[in-house]
Amino acid sequence: MSPTRPRATRAAAVPEQLGFAGMPERLFVCTPSKLGAYADCPRKYRYSYIDRPTPPKGPPWAHNSLGASVHTALKNWYALSQERRAPGALPTLLKATWVREGYRDVDQERAAYHRALGWLETYVGGLDPEDEPLGVERVVATKTSVLALNGRADRIDSRVGPDGPEAVIVDYKTGRSGLDADDARGSQALALYAFAAERVFRRPCRRVELHHLPTGTVAAHEHTPESLSRQVRRAEETATDIVAAEKAVAAGADPDESFPVNPGSLCGWCDFRRVCPAGAGVEGKEPWTAVEHLASS
Ligand code: SF4
Repeated sequence: MSPTRPRATRAAAVPEQLGFAGMPERLFVCTPSKLGAYADCPRKYRYSYIDRPTPPKGPPWAHNSLGASVHTALKNWYALSQERRAPGALPTLLKATWVREGYRDVDQERAAYHRALGWLETYVGGLDPEDEPLGVERVVATKTSVLALNGRADRIDSRVGPDGPEAVIVDYKTGRSGLDADDARGSQALALYAFAAERVFRRPCRRVELHHLPTGTVAAHEHTPESLSRQVRRAEETATDIVAAEKAVAAGADPDESFPVNPGSLCGWCDFRRVCPAGAGVEGKEPWTAVEHLASS
């Protein structure tokens, strides 16, 4: 689910708290989703990555189960030999790693399974079984002066562009429709994968694509070195804010003030709605709300 909300207000950076003068600052180890959690809501970031034990979460979401099942089936499809990569392999693949959690009942789960199988059959029918991606569920990692960044890209394709071989980031989507080039352009995660993949594979990686399986559509964007740098800079700013907030807490600041809530439309979908003071008054979604339409459409 990705209902939109304004970016969280940046916590005031406290440069003098970032490290002792003259001492190199440790790199901030992160994934795109860790940075995204803070940008969405600093309090959610604290619950997810700092507070230990982790505060109790709500029940699992059916849309996460569905997304994970589809992603794993595609990963395993590419693990087959090229002769066996055919739509007929999909029922076995999907069944073998189907995640059952979060559905309202067996009928809803069954409808989701059949819908997912249809998406996969159509999608795989359009793939060339002889294409070998550079990576499938591939972790790419790189460093900047601030970040030690790593992330798992759904797929990294090898294609030939106007200037020779290039890498392309492919991200599978199973949720909301209506994704367009702006979504691909604005995705910090995709840009960071591209930035890292370019270094890992030592070839240009500028194109990022969102493959929406339910509609069979692709939303794409061609980054430039400048637009990738902008996204990296934004990620570094977020990391600086997080480190400043963590250090403020270590120095005695109120954790609730250093990691403020950011109430909005995401609260209804938040795992921590029940423990968060801002989420307590929000009507939560049912774990299966986002897949309800699959049984009726
Ligand atoms: S319920 Fe809302 S304000 Fe609270 S942690 Fe979750 S997203 Fe943030």
